[in-house]
Amino acid sequence: MTIKRDGEDMSGAKDFRYLIPESLFKEITQKASEEYPNIIHGWLFAERKENFGICTKFIKNPDLRKNKVHVKPRSWMRYKKSKIYNMRKFKAELGVDIVYMWHSHPSGNEKLHAIDKRILKYLSNGVMIIVIPSVPNKTPEQKAHLVGWYYDKRYTKKPIIEKMVFEIISE
Ligand SMILES: [Zn+2]
Repeated sequence: MTIKRDGEDMSGAKDFRYLIPESLFKEITQKASEEYPNIIHGWLFAERKENFGICTKFIKNPDLRKNKVHVKPRSWMRYKKSKIYNMRKFKAELGVDIVYMWHSHPSGNEKLHAIDKRILKYLSNGVMIIVIPSVPNKTPEQKAHLVGWYYDKRYTKKPIIEKMVFEIISE
């Protein structure tokens, strides 16, 4: 079965690669470290090429209040509308191909949190990027890391959840 993918993700092709330049990887994980142990969030932009997608820049949302734990959206509908609105706005204004939402997991856990899953379930389709800050004085040492999760329950009863492994490339 071929699943048509659109919007923020890249391609359904099995050999599709996700790339992030080393400098961008360092910047985004550094931001997460600076705000540790608070959770930060923002947008990550990427360009679609033939058989790969390459991240080009990111922005961090201004934090209205500092959260150390996941909090569920106060209004699910507003959350969804705001996501769609922002993605369209970035695509139009910045001319970017792909817009991802990202947030940090200060704990170092690369897996989706229960609240992340609830959000994706509500949206029914989307990508969530998890940014893990490096925490050198933790045992074992927590290393900077970035991973994506693709979620789709539009065409199947059981949601498809795929891990997106990003390759760090030196420019
Ligand atoms: Zn999360």
